[in-house]
Amino acid sequence: MSSLFPTYARWDIAVEEAHGTTVIDRNGKEYLDFVSGIAVCNLGHCHPKVVGAVQEQLNKVWHVSNLFHIPLQEEVAQLLVENSSGDYVFFCNSGAEANEAAIKLARKYTGKKKILSFKQSFHGRTMATLSATGQEKVQLGFAPLLEGFEYLPYNDAASAMEAINEDVAAVMIEVIQGEGGVNPGEQEFIEAVAKSCNEHNVLLIIDEIQTGIGRTGKPFAYQHYSISPDIVTVAKGLGNGFPVGALIGKEKLKEAFGPGSHGSTFGGNPLAMAAAKATLTEIFNEQFLQDVEEKGIYLMNQLKEKLSKSNIVENVRGKGLMIGIACKEEVANQVTQLRQEGLLVLNAGPNVIRLLPALIISKEEIDQAVSLLEKELVK
Ligand SMILES: *Cc1c(COP(=O)(O)O)cnc(C)c1O
Repeated sequence: MSSLFPTYARWDIAVEEAHGTTVIDRNGKEYLDFVSGIAVCNLGHCHPKVVGAVQEQLNKVWHVSNLFHIPLQEEVAQLLVENSSGDYVFFCNSGAEANEAAIKLARKYTGKKKILSFKQSFHGRTMATLSATGQEKVQLGFAPLLEGFEYLPYNDAASAMEAINEDVAAVMIEVIQGEGGVNPGEQEFIEAVAKSCNEHNVLLIIDEIQTGIGRTGKPFAYQHYSISPDIVTVAKGLGNGFPVGALIGKEKLKEAFGPGSHGSTFGGNPLAMAAAKATLTEIFNEQFLQDVEEKGIYLMNQLKEKLSKSNIVENVRGKGLMIGIACKEEVANQVTQLRQEGLLVLNAGPNVIRLLPALIISKEEIDQAVSLLEKELVK
């Protein structure tokens, strides 16, 4: 008997330990992890540098409140702005909170209420972020939603051009829709949205909560496009498993987030900052990111080759180490079967198998995963 609300359809695994790309359950069974806590443990489980940084911080100070200066916040913020189009950072504890902050900041800065987002998007579970999410299943039963949100078709530049005008505060978008099915935004589409935002003084908010922190081979996935977002939100991979989120914003937004305008008790907590600093120091490194890009290309090519004879695979898509295998049928059974075979993968919507290995995955482990996928999908 469980005393937990049944909000999750849980897998039949209780994890005892996890190191690198290996997860070990309570029965001692080992799994190759292509989930990484949903794009969270990007450096693998219990990465020694992150463990060391948190252990050191545990014996110094855990929590002090944002009434105090927190030097580690300055250091992590510096790493984030050096590697993005932003100038200032606000820290919080999760992805939904980062997007919540982005929505608040956009409304306060522009004095407008309308936020455009996209069908099949996912931006979080708080009232504001589920209102921004273009999926009915996330909103079901929670009406009334927040006012002012409209959903446009993804990868449809013409309808975005039509909707973006002076009445709009911001456009919120993922450059690869994660939960919505690993749908990459087309170059022309994303760049047209950014251009239109710029022309109409509309803020461009890129939700990098799943795609950010090196996942696609760049610090942030928007950097594959010629765009310069006003706001970038991150969370998942930022602390390699330690809960932490952040909003990165441009200089012009500074006044709108003045003293007392927004806040969080735990946001930027020293333990979270120690984890984030260690994580970013490893990932925001040219050689590391180049390896991610190369391994991503290798994984993609292997999948395309080995799954080409599958009757159920429609296409393989994504960028870097964020890959979706879109199928003609529901994939729940295959995901379960692969788990029994020792490979942890996710679905993204009913028909897409989603692969999110740790960025430290080896070529041998990629081969191992591809061979299990081939066995399951080519019959
Ligand atoms: C996971 C996710 C969120 C929500 O993050 P939480 O930490 O679960 O609140 C928001 N946007 C995207 C794109 C995500 O993948």
